[in-house]
Amino acid sequence: MKLKDKISLVVPCFNEEAALPLFYAETIRVADEMKEQEFEFLFIDDGSTDHTLDILKRLAEEDSRIRYFSFSRNFGKESAMYAGFRHASGDYVAVMDADMQDPPSLLPEMYRIVTEEGFDSVATRRVNRKGEPPIRSLFAKLFYRIINRISDADIVDGARDFWLMSRKMADAIIQMGEYNRFTKGIYGWIGFHTKWLPYHNVERVAGETKWSFWKLFWYSVSGIVNFSDAPLLISSVIGMVCCLIALAAVIVIIVRRLVFGDPVAGWASLACLITFFGGIQLLCIGIIGQYLAKTYTETKKRPIYILKESNWKEKMDDYAQETDI
Ligand code: UDP
Ligand code: MG
Repeated sequence: MKLKDKISLVVPCFNEEAALPLFYAETIRVADEMKEQEFEFLFIDDGSTDHTLDILKRLAEEDSRIRYFSFSRNFGKESAMYAGFRHASGDYVAVMDADMQDPPSLLPEMYRIVTEEGFDSVATRRVNRKGEPPIRSLFAKLFYRIINRISDADIVDGARDFWLMSRKMADAIIQMGEYNRFTKGIYGWIGFHTKWLPYHNVERVAGETKWSFWKLFWYSVSGIVNFSDAPLLISSVIGMVCCLIALAAVIVIIVRRLVFGDPVAGWASLACLITFFGGIQLLCIGIIGQYLAKTYTETKKRPIYILKESNWKEKMDDYAQETDI
């Protein structure tokens, strides 16, 4: 009989030298409180250019529960989370940021919910966006409204990537091996029974956010493209509507010429129409292009991340075998 449940904590880290020691101190405090459970820490160094990896190596020497995986370059948080899921060996897997914006102190409550209330996972949702630029909040709201309307990935406004889930659910995420990853959508798409835990936003303890406005913007566009075909349909509808308008205009012009003998006046209106329809055409080609680009990167079947080193020898051996290195 298995005595203790093992919880794997997956922590993506990109240039987190300032936040990591604080995060580790707090997490270890929470882990020590949860005496009935065993812990495994998986720190994924996502190609940091600062001393993140050195700190992880030092911590791993002191604490045998720490496993680190270091990427050959920066692959992005999505890839880091995927690597964490793949290598985690716990009965439960939790993903959390290294900057303490996902408070480790919520873990005991999250564990209680999955084990006692019959949920497959517990997710966290911020109820406010304190400390965030208003324009970013506005776009975030708009994004959640759009994606929920046009896709079957159910995404809650303010959802964070901070989840605690059962092994079953983690395995389902691993099965979703797409290259263009949008984990918030994947969580919603795979289903399972999730309880949402609201909490107030906390600012990061140290260091800076890695997400600029434009990085977030393209991330959300990619989220929509990954989980919905609606933009393609919308561009076809726009095309059809434009054709109808043009047809009506032709009829009006012919009638005006034949019945009233009134030749069409004004090249200015013509120039406006040409640029307008030219613009719509480019927009629609752009939308198709987005899908084409995603299909292109998917068909190349490139690895989602490349491991450079780890202190977990078995996993490195597995990785070498899989990748035929
Ligand atoms: N992160 C990562 N790779 C990246 C960017 C971010 O692993 O390319 C990690 C980062 O170290 C942190 C988490 O993802 O642990 C969230 O990043 P950040 O705090 O910058 O995002 P925000 O909380 O501002 O959305
Ligand atoms: Mg953060």
